[in-house]
Amino acid sequence: MSKLKIAIQKSGRLSEKSLELLKDCGIKISTSNRKLRTESSNFPIEILFLRDDDIPQYVEQGVADIGILGENEVWEKAKKVKQIRQLGFADCKLCLAIPKDEVYTNLSYFQDKKIATSYPHILRKFFQEKEINVKIEEIGGSVEIAPSIGLANAIFDIVSTGSTLLTNGLKQVVTVVESQAVLISNKNLDFEKQGIVNRLLFRIEAVKQSSENKYILLNAPNEKLEEIIALLPGMKSPTILPLAQEGWSSIHTVIKEDTFWDIIEQLKALGAEGILVLEIEKMIL
Ligand code: ATP
Ligand code: MG
Repeated sequence: MSKLKIAIQKSGRLSEKSLELLKDCGIKISTSNRKLRTESSNFPIEILFLRDDDIPQYVEQGVADIGILGENEVWEKAKKVKQIRQLGFADCKLCLAIPKDEVYTNLSYFQDKKIATSYPHILRKFFQEKEINVKIEEIGGSVEIAPSIGLANAIFDIVSTGSTLLTNGLKQVVTVVESQAVLISNKNLDFEKQGIVNRLLFRIEAVKQSSENKYILLNAPNEKLEEIIALLPGMKSPTILPLAQEGWSSIHTVIKEDTFWDIIEQLKALGAEGILVLEIEKMIL
């Protein structure tokens, strides 16, 4: 039986989360000895540990069948691969930044300016669409120092907190695109491998659903049941059980964690008590 080859980042910001995702999907992987490839003992998958820059190319060529990496690298490399699913981690923005004492007006500020970046493809496309002419200086790393050493007037780089910009005397002026980790696949997987991808996706879906949802239990006075239930957007309808105490019921349901914080005040105002919010281990819809 063939195995699905999945490429993940060898060491860097994506490595730990990528392995964690596979683990949460119930896929056992031994990573003890720093090998560059390893197999799972309970799922037909082989893991290749690579530099993230190389993953789009390997997936396009079929050296790896699928891969996990940042959308930024997928866009920059512009290889022919299929983007299957966003994974909700490694969030970051690709931003334009200029020396902090400069007065910024609008995008035309960049007309004929020299911009240092490790993402020349994304940057060129952006300014072409805006019909603004810029000079792009491609560099491999430490992009933030380019303006202070006279290499460029501005930079285009990944920003997460902005503190690196500040320490280098820069300020962020435009967010060009937001990125997160994504699962990509080769465009011509055979039937058997596509089947393994589907099994993996099913598990990823269950993991993601469970992390976004909470199981909630609460006690409610019977006369307020209808109003309280109306506030709870459950999977189907909530489970309602009578409590030993006359006139009260217990409500069980599943809701999105972010919704929960919006409605908690209203639930309490309607008389809900003993509200418990529980983690969900896995969730299959
Ligand atoms: P490699 O050696 O594999 O080429 P790298 O140095 O290119 O590693 P990392 O710095 O580990 O890559 O970042 C990997 C990805 O993590 C980025 O491409 C991006 O999608 C995401 N990311 C999230 N936040 C940040 C951040 N603050 N800085 C850089 N990358 C970030
Ligand atoms: Mg890289």
